[in-house]
Amino acid sequence: MWDAQGHKYLDFLGGYAVANVGRNHPTVTGALIDLLGTDHPSMVQFETPLFSGLLAEELKRRIGRGLEYVFFTNSGTEGIEAAIKFAKCATGRAGIVFASKAFHGLSSGSLSLNGDECFRDGFAPFLPGCRMVPFNDLPALEKELAPGDVAAFVVEPIQGKGVNIPSSGFLQESARLCHQRGSLLVIDEVQTGIGRTGSFLALDHEAGVDADIIVLAKALSGGHVPVGAVLTKAAVWDEVFSSMERAIVHSSTFHQGSLAMVAGLASLRALDEDNLVANAGRMGRLLMDGLLAMKPKFEFMHDVRGRGLMIGIKFGPPRSLGLRTAWSLIHAMDDNLFPQAVVLPLMDDHRIITQVAGHHLDVIKLIPPLCIDESDVRWFLTAFEDVMRKLHQFPGPVWEVLKKLGKHAVTKRPREPVTN
Ligand code: PLP
Repeated sequence: MWDAQGHKYLDFLGGYAVANVGRNHPTVTGALIDLLGTDHPSMVQFETPLFSGLLAEELKRRIGRGLEYVFFTNSGTEGIEAAIKFAKCATGRAGIVFASKAFHGLSSGSLSLNGDECFRDGFAPFLPGCRMVPFNDLPALEKELAPGDVAAFVVEPIQGKGVNIPSSGFLQESARLCHQRGSLLVIDEVQTGIGRTGSFLALDHEAGVDADIIVLAKALSGGHVPVGAVLTKAAVWDEVFSSMERAIVHSSTFHQGSLAMVAGLASLRALDEDNLVANAGRMGRLLMDGLLAMKPKFEFMHDVRGRGLMIGIKFGPPRSLGLRTAWSLIHAMDDNLFPQAVVLPLMDDHRIITQVAGHHLDVIKLIPPLCIDESDVRWFLTAFEDVMRKLHQFPGPVWEVLKKLGKHAVTKRPREPVTN
């Protein structure tokens, strides 16, 4: 990205993972401009729309897994809402199980599956029957499924908040446990999908996961037109849309609009043209290797984890006394503050855009466009090392900025709990 003065920025946020093919990719903008030039009638609502058929076909070709039907949405959260409804309808049950730290969007149903109190605060009551289990905990999942009232377990294959990766076999075993109890497995690939992790889906890293519903959004848009997709097995779809009368039992005015569908088709084409899925894997490995090599030098760096171009850098208390004092001081002021000591200088001193990976987490997240190259990786690693070096000098200017920020942190307004 460049600003009006011509300064170049390294965008490691990618519009919250929408810009997988980069910004203003000519294949995407070209296709959208072409479509607008054709006078194509979108949203007639009585037609058999061409482009949604083509995009559904394209997604099914890439995903397979016996997922035969595709419902298009305008956002990720809308995809999750559809998945909740489809699962309830297909199973005749109300319960939904979700994971701690889960993020599935912020509309009411999706928020009922949110594993972070900061997002939930003030919006109770939630959907009845929603129950949280610790992420990556199969015995806890098995226990929640046991009563036989659960429609679905909804889970991200890698959690966006904190970049938490489940143990190998977790998703496959979750599917088995769900099916044993007549529940569905819903995989939320809104952030991890469309090549982000070095494969088309993050699910592809684990063999044989029998998902009933997969939700996509974000990068399918090409960064231009909001669009999401819910892929389901025929058995689920057939229960929801079981008769002519129920043909629009779940729908929305703007779903499968032609601009959105063409954005989706063109984004997938751009992904192929530029070989971006493989590039995500390659650049991700370079970044991980560079970061892991730095870890022994910097006491605050506790973990580097990720797949492809979804990487979390976790910070933790240092060993040496001086730095430990600084760590405690900052956390006592505000436990959201520390990662800003990395995010702010990356932006101010190096023109690199990154984000904190969630509330009360000492983790920053890297989700750049998948078109970054070796020189971008070098830019990031050099900048990150510089930021780390300065952060490990206490007292030092970084800590002064943090202290100032802490003093200005917004005072939280206590909230009365809402009761049913
Ligand atoms: N699911 C996941 C995993 C997400 O990361 C997000 C958004 O960040 C959503 C769902 C919600 O998507 P949207 O913001 O398009 O509603």
